[in-house]
Amino acid sequence: MGDGGEEAGMRRISRLVMVGGVPVGGGAPVTVQSMTNTPTRDVRATTRQINRLAAGGADLVRVSVPDDESAAALGALVASSPVPLVADIHFRADLALRAVEAGVAKLRLNPGNIRRRRDILEVAGRAFEAGIPIRIGINSGSLPGDLRERYGGVNPDSMWAAAERHLSILREAEFENVVLSFKASSALLTVAANEKAAAECDLPLHIGVTEAGPSVIGAARNAVAASILLSKGIGDTLRVSLSGPPEDEVPVALEILSSLGLRGGVPRLVSCPTCARCRIDVGRLSEMVMKKLRGVQGDFTVAVMGCEVNGPGEAREADLAVTGSPSGIIFFRRGRRLPGRVAASDLAQRLERELAALAANSGGRS
Ligand code: SF4
Repeated sequence: MGDGGEEAGMRRISRLVMVGGVPVGGGAPVTVQSMTNTPTRDVRATTRQINRLAAGGADLVRVSVPDDESAAALGALVASSPVPLVADIHFRADLALRAVEAGVAKLRLNPGNIRRRRDILEVAGRAFEAGIPIRIGINSGSLPGDLRERYGGVNPDSMWAAAERHLSILREAEFENVVLSFKASSALLTVAANEKAAAECDLPLHIGVTEAGPSVIGAARNAVAASILLSKGIGDTLRVSLSGPPEDEVPVALEILSSLGLRGGVPRLVSCPTCARCRIDVGRLSEMVMKKLRGVQGDFTVAVMGCEVNGPGEAREADLAVTGSPSGIIFFRRGRRLPGRVAASDLAQRLERELAALAANSGGRS
């Protein structure tokens, strides 16, 4: 495990589901997933985004399939993707059938908007033949009206009842290869709904807050919900939804898992909050380090510190540290100060060299 301290509590025992070659549930490490936002029919742009997400650390990538052109693009996307692809389907069962045919590794359905029972049964039958799982995604925003009425609104009980309704159809097809998700824009409702599901069944749970907001707010909201759930051992795969580039979602998810001690190999970035003593542009430098560490694997710590007050102390704990000093920028490698000072104009290049050496020495990839 990484530097994240103690591992989160005992994991809930869930059923194992295979998404392509990636295990979800059954005690497997919590996986990270994200979702493309390029038009799926644009194979070139979507392939590039899938590759970026995979290089950043996503174990699974989901693509929306809103129309026929998108369904037609799936074959090419599946063929070139380095990670298993999940097809996200709403309203049209025929698109789900085409996605299975194209070789996706999982379907995500909102059965609430695929109304005809026989359509769901047909999709389940094809998914069974293809050996792929189906995620039933229950969103607080699209609960059937009768369940909201019966259970007094949108709450864990009505969300579980919606899942049960769809599970009963899949049971009729003897289809058990299922992942469930319960999402809301409220972190606490997301937690409560997942706790209810964890108590009611042993199916693996895809967790995350939906419509969580732009980056800072969305990251905080997701971290709250995911941390509470994961600390209780609940959650088998995580998507941090943000309004913004999906490439930003993966580092947030990895940081949550790493901070909880649930994933090793995630480099740790430490940087000071800055104050009047600051002698370097900590914000810009730590952004630069963060970008350079994207997709790098390794259990090491990089510190960016504004001045000589806490700089040397943090530097001693870090594998690589950059610190401002009265006479310029200094580097520390595993607590040892490197000779000389670095000119601001050489900083980016030097940083890149040091980070590449760190990644190589820690056995990770960069
Ligand atoms: S390390 Fe220096 S610049 Fe950064 S917050 Fe501490 S005292 Fe301020």
